[in-house]
This record gives sequence, structure tokens and C-alpha cells, in this order.
Amino acid sequence: CGVFGMYSPHALDLAWLTYLGIFALQHRGQEAAGMCVSDGDKFHVEKDLGLVTQVFDERRLERVRLPNARVSIGHVRYSTTGSNLRFNAQPLTTRTNKGILGLAHNGNFVNAREVRNQMLMEGALFATTNDSEVMLNLIARESHMDLVEATAGAMQQLKGGYACVLMSRTALIGFRDPNGVRPLVIGQRDDGAYVIASEPCALYTVGARLLRDVLPGELVWVDENGLHSLMVHPAAPTPCAFEWIYFARSDGELDGVDTYASRIRMGMQLAREHPVEADVVVPVPDSGIGAAIGYARESGLPFDYGLSKNPYAGRTFIAPTQEARDLKVRMKLSPTSAVRGKRVILVDDSIVRGTTSSLIVNLLRDAGATEVHFRVSSPPIKHPCFYGIDTAARKELVASTHSLEQIRQLIGADTLAFISERGLAEAVSGPGLCLACFNGEYPAGTPLLNDVDKLA
Ligand code: 5GP
Ligand code: SF4
Ligand code: MG
Repeated sequence: CGVFGMYSPHALDLAWLTYLGIFALQHRGQEAAGMCVSDGDKFHVEKDLGLVTQVFDERRLERVRLPNARVSIGHVRYSTTGSNLRFNAQPLTTRTNKGILGLAHNGNFVNAREVRNQMLMEGALFATTNDSEVMLNLIARESHMDLVEATAGAMQQLKGGYACVLMSRTALIGFRDPNGVRPLVIGQRDDGAYVIASEPCALYTVGARLLRDVLPGELVWVDENGLHSLMVHPAAPTPCAFEWIYFARSDGELDGVDTYASRIRMGMQLAREHPVEADVVVPVPDSGIGAAIGYARESGLPFDYGLSKNPYAGRTFIAPTQEARDLKVRMKLSPTSAVRGKRVILVDDSIVRGTTSSLIVNLLRDAGATEVHFRVSSPPIKHPCFYGIDTAARKELVASTHSLEQIRQLIGADTLAFISERGLAEAVSGPGLCLACFNGEYPAGTPLLNDVDKLA
């Protein structure tokens, strides 16, 4: 998911700016979109299933628009918990003794179910199956505390990887899990308005410059007195390696590490670890482009576009069924003449189920590639993610059930190689990393075993 929030000391068209902000984060979730806008008195919310441009046509945008808007949040959803239903769209809103609140959330709380069950026994009511609602209920029920204290208290009770924006009529809050697994950045416009968002691209889109990352375990809030910070629960930082491998847009830095440059370094590292004699380096667009450039640079082989991508096709993995994903690959990719008669090094960011990869290898052979050497800029994904990246259930992860040689045969490549975990960590460099989907070491905890079919 992607989250976005703004606080302005003076009236701004926050409906429009929030639209631009979540549009910039569209790559983080294509299932639903929504926003809340307040002028200090009125509080409007609109959300629905669909892309940002589908949910917010002019009429819908007009319904959230307030002439004196001061605070807003927005969300794009990628369902990891809770099903893909309209009532699970965010932001979630609720009325509390702290006034009406809106919450937008990226990530997963691994103990949400336990906390929810406990709260149900105590008489709490839940309207959705979304674990964000547990967070909102925790904040709401601390009736003796102010909003910041109550939010800090909720952060201490929920475990996992998360980054959230929360708004009341008069304040914007942003907070990040103790390990900083999910990203969150702060920016400011020249007119003084503050922005909190999942990635820097959303800041630039609304005319703000990057101030800094929200730190792991930090809660920041913006009100009429400016920006404030509270360090609630810091732990060893282990941001998600997948943000750099694949998820984040390539035009920004997270925790001080430039996404694009790290992808190039991954490709260079991959070329050093797994060289092979060939004629051309070809990326799987778009996610493999950075690593393919790096591979070509390090190996001295030419980089070429061997696959043409229909720019109107979304991210393949979002399609809910296998058949839909197969068709989407064909909708999305077709080979160019650059591979005809060539020994091709095909570079992609990851192999998850292996189905996309095998279709692509077939496409290249049909187009006349004489050899296809598959190189992957992430290590084999063997474990499920519990922190908000939907890398599928364990039994669907081809690397958890197949050996390297079996995967090679399955996808029909002449050779297959993955970057090493260490090589990946060096290419990202800087922060410690969550590498749990590769090595099974979960830095922010796991759900109780009987809670998850994902481990099956
Ligand atoms: P596969 O060959 O495993 O079917 O697909 C691999 C490609 O699809 C990679 O380019 C990767 O970017 C993307 N992909 C497919 N499924 C998923 C998924 O569930 N999660 C993520 N993060 N990426 C996926
Ligand atoms: Fe990222 Fe993998 Fe960790 Fe999930 S398990 S947060 S995808 S590194
Ligand atoms: Mg891809």
C-alpha cells in the first residue's frame, strides 16, 4: 500500500494535492484508493475500489474538496490482509472522544488478530476485516489520553511492519514501526505545508522537498505549532529489502539509499557473481531494468530492449488468479527483434511463482533467441512476507518447494542464477535489512502459527 498526508498552515486545495500524491504512489497498490480532507470543522471522506483515476473522477473529487482545507490523508490499497472488498478500502474513519479520526496504513500487524480477539471479548465492535481497524480502535479507546499519547500507546501494543498516517480535524500524525520495515518520509513545501508519504516521489509531485525519513519507531505530528517528534519504540533498523529490489519507484531515496543506484549495483553484483558468455543483456520491463543496466555495465555486454511492454498494463502480480496473470503477461510483454539469433541474458528482479518467468523465456525462444540465461537480482524467495508485501503463500513460492535446478527446468532457461543474500545487502548498503522472505529470519515477529495459512 501507499500512504500520504498533508498539513497546511493556510488554506490549500488539499483534495487535488492528495489526489496527485496518491497518484504518484499508484505503483504501491491498484485495488482501491481513498482520501479524507478536513478544514478544522468539516471532515470529508471518499474511497472505493479501483485506480486513483477511476475512483476520483471530477465529481468525486469535488465531494471531498473544501475551500479552507488544512489536513488530509490518502491511501492506495494492495490487499494483504482483509479481502478485496469495498468496505476494506482506506482511509478508515471513526468517531471518538478525540473527535473524528482517519487512518491510512501500509504493512501488517502480526498480532492484530490476538489484539482484535481480546478487544472483542471486551465489547469492541469491528466493521471490517482490515487490521488497520484494530489500530484505530486501540487509539480510540484510550479515552483519558490525548491523540499523540494514545497513538504511541497503540504502537507499543501492535507488532509487525507498518507505516501509517492518521488525521484529526486539526492535526496530522505519521508513525513507523520499531524496525522501520515499511518506509515513510517527511517533506515540506516552500509555503510551509508538510507532507508525510510512503516515498519521496509523492513529495516531489506536490511540490515538496524531502526533509528526512520518519525514523524506525518514531511518531511525528504536525499541528498549528509545526512539526514535532516522539521516539516511541526504536529497535534495530531492518527496512524491507524488497523496497529497493522492486517495490519502490526508482526516483527516490529511502533511509538514505537511492533506489535506482541500488538496482544498478544489484545488477553489477549479479554480473560478478554469475557471469556467462552471451551476446546481449535484456531486462524484463519495468522491474528488471535497473539491474539489467548494472549487469550490462559490469559485464561489458550490450544492453538491449528485447521485450516491448504495453505501457497501459499494470503490475502483473496484482491479478488475482493464475489464469488472469498468464493473460496479463501476454497483454503486457512481447519480444522485439533484438533477441533474434542471440544468446540472451534475461534479467528480472525476482522469481515468485515462476509462471511469469517461464512465459517470458518461451516468448524469447519463439522470437529466435538461441540461448536464454536467466539472472535474478533478488535471492530465491522461500518464505512468506508478514509485513505487507504480498509475495504469496509459501506453497505458491516456487523456490520454497523446488531446487535451483528444478526451477531452471520449470522456467526453461539454459542457466539460472540468483544474487546472493550478502551481495544484495552490499548493493543496498547502509541500513540493516529485513531479508525474511529469503532467509526466514523475521525481525518484527510472526503471527501465531495457527493464525496463518500462509505458512502451509
Ligand atoms: P513469476 O515468474 O514469479 O511469476 O513473476 C516474477 C515477476 O513478477 C517479477 O518481475 C516480479 O516483479 C513480479 N511478481 C510476480 N508476482 C509477484 C508477487 O506476488 N509479489 C511481488 N512483489 N512481485 C511479483
Ligand atoms: Fe520485505 Fe521480504 Fe521482509 Fe517482507 S519479508 S518486509 S518482502 S524483505
Ligand atoms: Mg516484474
